[in-house]
Amino acid sequence: MQRAAGSLGRIGPNAIIQLAAVLGDRAGAAPVRRLFEAAGLPHYLDTMPQEMVDEQEVRALHATLRAQFGVACAQALARAAGRRTAGYLLEHRIPRPLQWLLPRLPKPLAVRLLLRIIERHAWTFAGSGAFCAVYGRPARLGIAHNPLCRGLQSELPSCDFYAGTFEALFRALIDPAAKVREVTCEALGDRACVFEVDW
Ligand SMILES: [Zn+2]
Repeated sequence: MQRAAGSLGRIGPNAIIQLAAVLGDRAGAAPVRRLFEAAGLPHYLDTMPQEMVDEQEVRALHATLRAQFGVACAQALARAAGRRTAGYLLEHRIPRPLQWLLPRLPKPLAVRLLLRIIERHAWTFAGSGAFCAVYGRPARLGIAHNPLCRGLQSELPSCDFYAGTFEALFRALIDPAAKVREVTCEALGDRACVFEVDW
């Protein structure tokens, strides 16, 4: 796996913005305030980040989410935040012609292209982690030294924010029935977080 070039351990702000949006929609403003205050990020309650953020802030926010809501609920919220992040990417970042083209290509070609696109943008979501994508059926996306579950020990794979983002992208661009499962996770003591995509 290759470490992101020039990585400073920063992650796109959607990992914070979309989590706040999901929690706000489902539970209201008070739990959002409690979460951000407990995570040491109360300054974002007034103005959400607009630029890449320190990966430690994202890690703290997602760890605090687990502590406050329990694993199952935190997983569902993080996955929904990932889906919203994919929605943002489709709306603002992924060119429309590409969105038109990908679902019309033969799937093996479309999947290869999407994996390359995700790989090229790994610096925006993997922080100081090392990302790689391998074509196959299932396709595999891996993050080693994953900043989002660093220091975390869990009984279950814990990187639902990524799983939700990848799954929504594959559903929109490859196949509406695509599924993403995190099959190994550093929070379980595995060597890397690996997400399998089938469609
Ligand atoms: Zn993981």
